[in-house]
Amino acid sequence: MTAVQLNNLIKHFKRGKIKAVNGIDLTIEEGEIVALLGPNGAGKTTTLDMVLGLTEPTQGTVQIIGKKPRQAIDEGLVSAVLQTGGLLHDLKVGEVVDYVASNYRTPTLGRAVLERAGIEDLADRKVSLCSGGEQQRLKFALSLLPNPDLLVLDEPTAGMDVNARRSFWANMQEEAREGRTVIFATHYLEEAQSFAERVVLVAGGKVVADGPMVEVRHHTDIRLVSAHVENERAVRDQIGQHFPDLEVTIHNDLLEVKSPSSDELARLLLSIEGVSGLEISAPSLEDAFVDLTGDKEVQS
Ligand code: ATP
Repeated sequence: MTAVQLNNLIKHFKRGKIKAVNGIDLTIEEGEIVALLGPNGAGKTTTLDMVLGLTEPTQGTVQIIGKKPRQAIDEGLVSAVLQTGGLLHDLKVGEVVDYVASNYRTPTLGRAVLERAGIEDLADRKVSLCSGGEQQRLKFALSLLPNPDLLVLDEPTAGMDVNARRSFWANMQEEAREGRTVIFATHYLEEAQSFAERVVLVAGGKVVADGPMVEVRHHTDIRLVSAHVENERAVRDQIGQHFPDLEVTIHNDLLEVKSPSSDELARLLLSIEGVSGLEISAPSLEDAFVDLTGDKEVQS
């Protein structure tokens, strides 16, 4: 069953001057864990807002488990942890859970969500006294109340330190194991890398890469070729002759070149006397990310 279906989704602001989302097609199947990754202003939040029916698309359609967003939310099929949206600061954590639960027409998990979010010890603490990371966990707990099939998280770990982030994702992994579909926007590459099975890179309101984490990492065929060189001038001459466009750095006898044709370059290097310790490495996710999104600013 398809959890999320976006067809040619477009959202323009200011009478078309700001093209926040500019034609996104995306299908997410039930049980998938998908990271939406992209630079500031890429259109991630606007896309998630449309998924949740918080803003109407200028064009295109959104379907959540075969339904319109508002209907899916009313039926408790989807819920979210958003960047915006406050908590009731004068209440205690447990009271907030009771209050929000009482507003659902469908049955909820009740206070059990505190344990699932790892904050069962905080039930009697006033929300205003909770740290930013604890409040973020409370938001996560609230999102679990309707026992949703789909969880939408917009930078859920913003404001958490490394340990809090790690344990947040451990809790989330539990939720995912139960078969929930999870879609989350993040700036943290390592979060996307360690948690998501699929990554969708968004830039300039469009999807610029979409695939299993490993594939996206290998999306750019640029490789970093490095080697120990004894004769800098010979190496520079040979590379300049055969690959005039490549930028060559040699520092402390260590050569580093980024090349799309690494095999040919490696062959050439090994034919030069005094070249040893040749290594070819694939780009990190971060490199791929910069390569794929670097030149695509949001159009305005
Ligand atoms: P970030 O990672 O910084 O949260 P994002 O990928 O979530 O960024 P969006 O918040 O979706 O990006 O914004 C996409 C673009 O649309 C930005 O240029 C933003 O300034 C613009 N934008 C978003 N909402 C509005 C609005 N209500 N009115 C005008 N412009 C908007």
